[in-house]
Amino acid sequence: MTSPTPLIAGNWKMNGVAASLIEAQGVAAGLGETKARVAICPPATLVERAAAALKASPVLVGGQDCRAEASGAFTGDVAAEMLADAGARLVILGHSERRAGYGESDAVVAAKVEAALRAGLEPIVCVGETLEERKAEKALEVVTSQVRGSLPAALAGQAFSVAYEPVWAIGTGLTPTTAEIEEVHVAIRAALVELFGDHGKSAAILYGGSVKPSNAAEILHAREVGGALVGGASLKAEDFLGIIGAL
Ligand code: PEP
Repeated sequence: MTSPTPLIAGNWKMNGVAASLIEAQGVAAGLGETKARVAICPPATLVERAAAALKASPVLVGGQDCRAEASGAFTGDVAAEMLADAGARLVILGHSERRAGYGESDAVVAAKVEAALRAGLEPIVCVGETLEERKAEKALEVVTSQVRGSLPAALAGQAFSVAYEPVWAIGTGLTPTTAEIEEVHVAIRAALVELFGDHGKSAAILYGGSVKPSNAAEILHAREVGGALVGGASLKAEDFLGIIGAL
């Protein structure tokens, strides 16, 4: 089994209007030789336009969430099929801002992962502990339990990645030590192999939480780190390219 192809994905969150696509185009224009797959996940309103703008480049477009159902009376929600129809190839699921803000349980995330697969989207499934859980030395237990609960059996044989995003590191400028990142990533890998056998070795395990050009090289070269999920620093092409270039 070859090691996973690294993935560097930018999560624009609720930022960006049409004019912001210049940053996505800047990433495409500035992307040199890289061994990483690169993705930008803009807000749903920009998925179609981002996909059109990046059509001729290797930069993929992803969604930030989807509903588990394919259609129906769910005002304001977006189905995985709709993201795929708009040109998305991937989708972030179970981000801590959704788990905390919308009460998404592991079971809900697992149902969304199944929806993504049904629509042909590659899921990026987020897990991560809170500061209280880390202080209580429960990080490994919490994260591996989220992995087991959020990854349905349907992922066997499918392309997917897991993003380890400590909640306390997101948007705070704080990052775990490299040893702490490695400890969690090694535990996630073991859980993936337990769940999916050899196929569990083919999923990239991304790190997310205050990744920036200045800390990217150390994080990206840590054991079992197969890329990054980047929030704030993905909004500017120069910063995002700096992170991709650190690989
Ligand atoms: C994120 O929310 O996925 C994230 C990693 O954010 P930031 O890079 O801004 O910490």
